Amino acid sequence: MTKECVFCVIAQKRGKDIRIIYEDEEIIAFLYPTAALGHICVVPKEHVAIFMRNKEEVTRKMFEVAHKLAQTINAPLKLNSSNIIINTGVDQIFSHFSIHILPRKAGDELGLTWEPKQISEDQLNTLEEKLTGAAAPTEEEKKEAREISEDYYRKYLRRIP
Ligand SMILES: [Zn+2]
Repeated sequence: MTKECVFCVIAQKRGKDIRIIYEDEEIIAFLYPTAALGHICVVPKEHVAIFMRNKEEVTRKMFEVAHKLAQTINAPLKLNSSNIIINTGVDQIFSHFSIHILPRKAGDELGLTWEPKQISEDQLNTLEEKLTGAAAPTEEEKKEAREISEDYYRKYLRRIP
């Protein structure tokens, strides 16, 4: 029997003691105090295992919500640090794409460390070559940004007397 996805259960509000702090048609954010007080999880309502398969506008909205919640959570906890962790991929414990906000303080003993690995120069050079420029906007995206900008000027700046 396949085990049901815990985040889908939460997104469908079928679990117990769910503390939803944000919700819209596509995403949900909730307190998920499994690692620390103030641990927040932001997920798409639709089960998507892999980050790259999530709709771009849903991903953008998830990061906007995570950004606001990360700014907000530190004040009541009197903290100034956090880890933002993104879980993506089918090998995760829950294969449901998720952004986790973990408030941190010195000595909290939250074990998020790893042993440094020795990576060869050749491997790094190969990756650098493949990745350089990959995040730059495409010509189509640049054109779209120009059109939005021009549209803005046409609509709003015309009103200035
Ligand atoms: Zn799921």
